[in-house]
Amino acid sequence: MESIDLVPADPANGSAAPVAGAVWPDTVEPAVLVALDPGVPAGLDHSPDVLVIGGGVLGLSTAMQLRRAGAGRVVVVERDRLASHASGGAGALITPDTRAWEDPPAVAALAVESADMLRAFDVECGGATGLRSMDMLTALPFDLPEGFRPGPPTERIDAAGLGSIEPELHGAVCGLLVRDQAHVNPLRYAAELAARAGTTATGVTALGFDVDRGRVVAVRTSHGDFTPGAVVLATGRTGLPVPQIPERWVKGHLIATEPASFRLRVGLSTPGGLVVQLADGRLVTGGTRHEGDESPGADPVATAEIFAHLAGILPAASGLRITHRWSCFRPATADGVAVADRVPGVDNAWCTAGHDAIGILMAAVTGRILAEWITAGDRPARAAALAWDRPARTDRGAPAA
Ligand SMILES: Cc1cc2nc3c(=O)[nH]c(=O)nc-3n(C[C@H](O)[C@H](O)[C@H](O)COP(=O)(O)OP(=O)(O)OC[C@H]3O[C@@H](n4cnc5c(N)ncnc54)[C@H](O)[C@@H]3O)c2cc1C
Repeated sequence: MESIDLVPADPANGSAAPVAGAVWPDTVEPAVLVALDPGVPAGLDHSPDVLVIGGGVLGLSTAMQLRRAGAGRVVVVERDRLASHASGGAGALITPDTRAWEDPPAVAALAVESADMLRAFDVECGGATGLRSMDMLTALPFDLPEGFRPGPPTERIDAAGLGSIEPELHGAVCGLLVRDQAHVNPLRYAAELAARAGTTATGVTALGFDVDRGRVVAVRTSHGDFTPGAVVLATGRTGLPVPQIPERWVKGHLIATEPASFRLRVGLSTPGGLVVQLADGRLVTGGTRHEGDESPGADPVATAEIFAHLAGILPAASGLRITHRWSCFRPATADGVAVADRVPGVDNAWCTAGHDAIGILMAAVTGRILAEWITAGDRPARAAALAWDRPARTDRGAPAA
């Protein structure tokens, strides 16, 4: 018998604490927040068919897909509240058609599949995820080479055309427009997933696994041992002692303003961060990347810089009051691509981790891949892009050392 301990949350590391100060709780009804903190249900099943550890969007989506694939009794355990870490702090843009700019083709294809799934899910929920379609303009303060003409669905917008795409925009000289991208409310999305995820329990911390002959036979938790048929570790970072691709945190900051009197026609992505306008007129902006910063809480300097950038690109926003400032930690891998694979050396345990800046976008397809794998027994071919043993990229992320 071998024991695999999950690395305990380090209280000095800001990633250990739930997100504080985000705008999202103020955009939903109290019932959504109640749904995200069910506590420990009476008679919690300690021997489910599948135990999912981690109640962010990845864990919840995987649990829902497992239920739909016929996996039987599924239990999600979350140490804090559901969607209380990165999933509850994200900007929550759904921009599948920009992924081909940065990601390997197989990952970009998964992003498109995932966004299609999210659109279908939102229809199924009667619009309850808060998904809203929007065109995304990447606004650049420098010109692109004259001959650069990206293929569909991206359109190059030269300086003269920017004003008709977004009249409020200032200081950009070139843009890349992608139509029909989206934004989702991350808490509404998580609550809708949770409603279909089987049993969810909050305030339950997984401590480690007992493994016998290559199978998990028990999961040790703060609420006793579980003896599930299979396990999915969806804790943002795996916390496994020896991940095959090193993992890291990337701290990010966002702010929200009071509602603006103007209406943006598009969502904006700029070298200084994203800007999205919510249905009630508030602007959510930021998305800094502070590599190696594990300090808790939002840094006032970083949030002031975000606002200064906002006022620079949208002068009409310069008089708006900031109502929310927050930070959260993107779970990331050394090469910037997520993992969805078996726990190395364990037949009945899987993990998904490191979704970095696109986990809200990727939750649907990742959950589907894991559910197909666990219920059918064979790895779906498209899971290879998210395998531990893929050729690690060296052009992005922290050094793989
Ligand atoms: C500033 C910022 C902006 C972002 N913007 C976007 C965006 O526009 N679009 C997009 O798609 N993505 C965005 N993201 C990325 C997205 O937030 C993440 O990729 C995604 O939320 C990761 O989800 P997750 O479920 O893997 O992790 P998490 O949300 O971190 O969930 C993991 C959960 O596991 C729990 N857990 C950990 N250990 C244990 C344990 N031992 N026992 C029980 N529970 C445990 C944690 O408490 C946590 O709730 C952004 C992120 C940041 C920081």
